[in-house]
Parts: sequence; structure tokens; C-alpha cells
Amino acid sequence: MQIKCLNDLQEKAKQLDATDDLAHKLHEFELPKQQIYLDGNSLGPLTKAAKARAKEVVEQQWGADLIESWNKHKWIGLPKTIGNKIANLIGAEENTVVCADSISVNLFKVLSAALLIQEQGLKQETQQTPPIQNKRTIILSQADNFPSDIYMAQGLSNLLGENRCKLHTVSSKDIEHELQENGDKIAVVMLTHVNFKNGDISDMQAITQLAHQKGALIIWDLAHSAGVLPLELQHCEVDFAVGCTYKYLNGGPGAPAFVYVAKKLQKAIQQPLSGWMGHKQAFAFLHDYEAADGPEQMLSGTPPILSMSILDASLGAFEGINIHQIRHKSIALNGFFQECVEHLMIDDLFELACHPSANLRGSQISYTHPYAYAICQALIAHNVVPDFRAPNILRLGFSPLFLTYEQVFNAARILADLVNKQEYKNSMYQQMKEVT
Ligand SMILES: *Cc1c(COP(=O)(O)O)cnc(C)c1O
Repeated sequence: MQIKCLNDLQEKAKQLDATDDLAHKLHEFELPKQQIYLDGNSLGPLTKAAKARAKEVVEQQWGADLIESWNKHKWIGLPKTIGNKIANLIGAEENTVVCADSISVNLFKVLSAALLIQEQGLKQETQQTPPIQNKRTIILSQADNFPSDIYMAQGLSNLLGENRCKLHTVSSKDIEHELQENGDKIAVVMLTHVNFKNGDISDMQAITQLAHQKGALIIWDLAHSAGVLPLELQHCEVDFAVGCTYKYLNGGPGAPAFVYVAKKLQKAIQQPLSGWMGHKQAFAFLHDYEAADGPEQMLSGTPPILSMSILDASLGAFEGINIHQIRHKSIALNGFFQECVEHLMIDDLFELACHPSANLRGSQISYTHPYAYAICQALIAHNVVPDFRAPNILRLGFSPLFLTYEQVFNAARILADLVNKQEYKNSMYQQMKEVT
């Protein structure tokens, strides 16, 4: 029975691989042989193009062409070049996105800019309209949002004082209710689109519309969405968005993030980290700050060219395919893993910590288990790499560009083997490492 079941699943995996229209993308990645990498949602793998670019940018551009490279190799334009490539993946217009800093830092900029709009009205209106007297001061967010998002709002609240900025969090499911009830006090809604622990997807269109009806501005964090879910920022009339590039965009460890500002707000905002790279004429070296017109006003200091060059090359993996193909395979891999786990009859040993349907969650599956950390370590010892999220979540990510269905089948088979034998109880798997 067990053997037949295994054979049938393996056969199905092979058939799915044979008809996979993204299968050719696997060859653009450099992955350790034998490893099944289910953590592309935390650190996307190296692409061959990135490796070649790293060598070129260090040896030729920095090594030989030196300072001339700012012009010759268009280093100075990288934040916008990359921004426009990312805009394409998130349903944004050209000239609405730049690559800069981290999500955390970008959130500080957009939260401040949004609060200032609510305090003072749009910049061009300020001549005629007197400042609105601090009517809206609340940042509304999800209680289970990514901690750094919450921390940045707390930091801003400490800086400005609670009479100008106050964080209020409610559970994800209550966001719309809170907006309905208290929307007139809310200045900014700051939400993460796909929850990092359970993969829950928030309804971008409906919540954005509701926030606007209530007079609030909205910021979306796209960390677990960009590059793997179809997004329509322009169509949904999103005000601001941020996202990172080292997850599904495969930009490399600590690769710089991105920030989106809707066209209609670009002339109206002021962001507080007003560095020279966001100046209208950076190389005029003027005494007073004047923000650039476009999304480049969100830049602060000198861009990290090595990281940006690598990211720029990595984004080549998205050429020639579309986001709907990616989402289709993401759901199929995710659902197939769940099917394997159910057929191997280990699903009762875990608690599903996400939506039961792969169609309705991000590109990951999460389980809770008292030994989640040890199971994660044991899987890694068997060359299957998921991750652990405190306190008890085993998280497996399915990156459609480089995973095969057969790998997903093997991951489930190895997991079943290990939990059936309770191998995770071995003390070697209990030692907690610094980064999980
Ligand atoms: C990964 C992640 C971040 C990371 O933020 P950085 O400041 O770029 O390190 C932020 N928000 C969410 C939702 C994330 O998943």
C-alpha cells in the first residue's frame, strides 16, 4: 500500500515536471546538487547571471574602470533601472519604483511622508489650505505583521510623540472592521500583503478601496508577494508600497529593497531622510534640499553598487515569462506537497498553520509542531532546507522558478520518514542556532 502510493506520487511528479512550462528556468540557477531548497522565500538562490555580473562588476567595472563606471556602466541609474524592472512585476507604472535601503528604512520614509500628508495636506495645497489640526494620527496595522514593520512604526511614534503618530494594531481579520468603525481617525494603514508566518493573503483591492473611502492612506509590504504573486498596484490605486529583493527576487543576501510611490503623490510628498541622492540636482551640490520629482526622491545616500548590480542581473530570470505562470506553478507545487503529505498519512502529526487551500495562501505551507525546530534541523541534515519561525512553525517555501515536482515529492517522502521514526528527537537537532 505504502509502496504503491509512493510510486503513484512519484509518477505524478514526473508527469507534472514533463509538462511544466517553467522547467527551463531551473538552468538559470546555481543550486547545490542533491539539495531540495524550500527556503527561496527567505533567501533566494544564486543565479548564473548574478555570479557572472558579480565577477564583471568587481574585476572590470570597479577594478579597471573605477570612478568612470558611474557613467560608463550606468551605476548612477541602477536604483531606477531596477525599480522599473520591479514595477513590471508588481503591476506598477514606469517611474514609480526605486531600489534603495531596506524595507524597514523605506517604511520609515513612507510612514513619515503619509503622516505629513494627513497633517498638512498635499504639498501644493499648503499655500491655500491651513494645516488640518492633527485630526488623523493613527497608523493601523496587523498585530501579527512582521515585527520590523511594527518596530519602525513604534520608533516613529516615539520620535514624533503620540499626539502626532500612534500605532494601533488589530488582528488581520479585523482590519476591515476597524476601518469601518474608526476609519475617520486613521491616518495610514500599513499592511503586509502575505503574512510571513502563515501565508495568509490580504485583499489588496478591497482594503485599499475601503481605506481611501475613509480618507486614510495605505502602505503595502510586498516582502512575500513580489515575484511570486500577481499584483496590481496601479489598478488598486495603492499609495505606497515597499518590498525586499532577497526573497523571491533572488537578489542575494541583504540585497537592497524597493519602494513604490503612486504617480499622483510624487509631487506632493516629503520624506524625512532627505539625502543627496534624492535631490533634484545631486551633482549641483546646492546648500538647500529640493526633492527630485520622481520616485528617486525616496533615495537617501549612495547606492550599494555591488549588491544592486547582482540584483539587476538576477531579475533577468523573470524575462520571457509572466507572473501568472509563476503563480500557477506556485499553487501547483504547494498543493502537490500537501497532497503528498496527506497520502503519506503524516498530516495528522502536524497542525496546518495556514489556509487549507493552496489557491488561497502565499507560496508557502506552514505547520505547527512542538518539535518544529528539531524537525527543521533534521530535514536540513537530509538535504531538505525549509525554515523555522518561532515559536513552533515549520515553514516550507515553494519557489516556482527552480523547484521540480519530483523534488517536492522527495521532500514530503523524507519528511514522512523522519517523523515516522521520530528522528527529530535526537539531541543533535535540538540546539538552537542564532539565525533560524
Ligand atoms: C522579510 C521581511 C521584511 C524584511 O525587512 P528588511 O528591513 O528589508 O530586513 C520586512 N517585512 C516583511 C513582511 C518581511 O517578510
